[in-house]
Amino acid sequence: MSQLSDSPCLSCGACCAAYRVDFSACEMQDMGGSVPMGLATEVTGNTWRMRGTDHLPVRCGALTGNVGERAACGIYEWRPGPCRELEPGSDGCQRARQRHGLAPLML
Ligand code: SF4
Ligand code: SF4
Repeated sequence: MSQLSDSPCLSCGACCAAYRVDFSACEMQDMGGSVPMGLATEVTGNTWRMRGTDHLPVRCGALTGNVGERAACGIYEWRPGPCRELEPGSDGCQRARQRHGLAPLML
């Protein structure tokens, strides 16, 4: 999710309610990273997962608002790597939007 003030993500949030979000343990706050401890769970010794992203329906515990209307990441500055890497207009973005019945993003 991208969150500049004119970003299409602010009226979307679909990718935060579509995918499992796993990342390295070193991204967790207690291990020198930035992701708040309460928002992720340990999967294996080296891998952590954003809470809510392995439930059905998928919805990251850090997502605020309503998908497709108004949405924001509650830990935007501290979000893990996979969230930083998923760019608006990418295949992953478009697939997530499709899953939520949203039109493809035209950039
Ligand atoms: S699905 Fe695309 S437009 Fe929607 S929040 Fe994610 S990156 Fe942004
Ligand atoms: S941490 Fe933020 S950007 Fe990443 S999935 Fe959750 S709400 Fe979306």
